[in-house]
Amino acid sequence: MKTISVLGSTGSIGTQSLDVARENGYKICALAANSQIDLLEKQAREFLPRLAVLRDEKLALELKSRLSDTSVEVDYGDVGVLRAATIGAETAINALVGIAGLAPTMAIIECGSQLALANKESLVCAGALVNGALKKKNTTILPIDSEHSAIFQAMRGYTNGDIKKLILTASGGPFFGMTLAQMASKTADDALKHPKWNMGRKISIDSATMMNKGFEVIEAAWLFDILPKDIEVVVHRQSIIHSAVEFFDNSVMAQLSPPDMRLPIQYALTYPERKQASWPSLDLFKTGELHFAPPDRINFPSLALCEKAGTDGGNQGCIINGANEVAVAAFLRGEIKFTDIYAIVSETVKQISFTEFGTINDVFECDAQARDCALRLALLAK
Ligand code: MG
Repeated sequence: MKTISVLGSTGSIGTQSLDVARENGYKICALAANSQIDLLEKQAREFLPRLAVLRDEKLALELKSRLSDTSVEVDYGDVGVLRAATIGAETAINALVGIAGLAPTMAIIECGSQLALANKESLVCAGALVNGALKKKNTTILPIDSEHSAIFQAMRGYTNGDIKKLILTASGGPFFGMTLAQMASKTADDALKHPKWNMGRKISIDSATMMNKGFEVIEAAWLFDILPKDIEVVVHRQSIIHSAVEFFDNSVMAQLSPPDMRLPIQYALTYPERKQASWPSLDLFKTGELHFAPPDRINFPSLALCEKAGTDGGNQGCIINGANEVAVAAFLRGEIKFTDIYAIVSETVKQISFTEFGTINDVFECDAQARDCALRLALLAK
């Protein structure tokens, strides 16, 4: 029986990972979450992992007493999350949100479990260091992001020497077709209504600004060792083609399916095999036409900001991510306007000078600096 640990188990990817684990009869070794105690208790009672972790210490103590009639050990904090990451599962799913996923990503690679990665911020912030660790351990990442899973599937049997470019599809988010002036008055509720995917709060806002697609360009560059200039973003509203690879003979291989994250999750868990799915298959007659459009880089400037950061490398992705986490949180609290998110992130990039990272500590220092700067800018924007 395959053994799995799930970091971020109460989030959107985490709960769907457990759906896949339940269907396939996989054994769960560890679960980790931030603060959703009721859901984590329910998951722990169903899957009886060795370890259940809540980042919040007080809630973890409460969980410990609630689970005292079971064999599940409870731990808390960043140390607890790292214990869950390195418990020795065959596959560790990292579905944490933000740079909080970086230390667990490094720990999973280091301990020798197969990393199934949904936390794109690990690669956005520290792609060079993550790839260095992978190389040292002679291992690779199995991507869970739907676009990157699509590229990974389309690339099978080919090497980088065969590839001309990657075609990264984008739904365009809930504000597709709008101008910056129209977006300025949009609220968190408006931004959380995604047309095709039901996702967590942070990534829903990142999808609305297209920062998510920008992050995915950087993520793809690191995952597949491709320059950002060879990654073409294409808006495809139906989210049927999840991404594609163009080879040097101009042949294009794409992966298609109805939008359902359980597919890329299951593929990462069954790879290199495929297993029966319980979700609906693609009905091309119902789908009808597929539409494509170039991205609007003027009204969604986050995309170009990330493309440049991906090309420049160094600390640029880390600065963008740290500032974006602060700005998105402020927007979700109703403190700043939607369009302030980009303003804060781009201004933070301007205010912090370019450096290369030598160690993971450099990354955390840069992240703290970017957060300080963005917090100050968010206060001024209130
Ligand atoms: Mg994606």
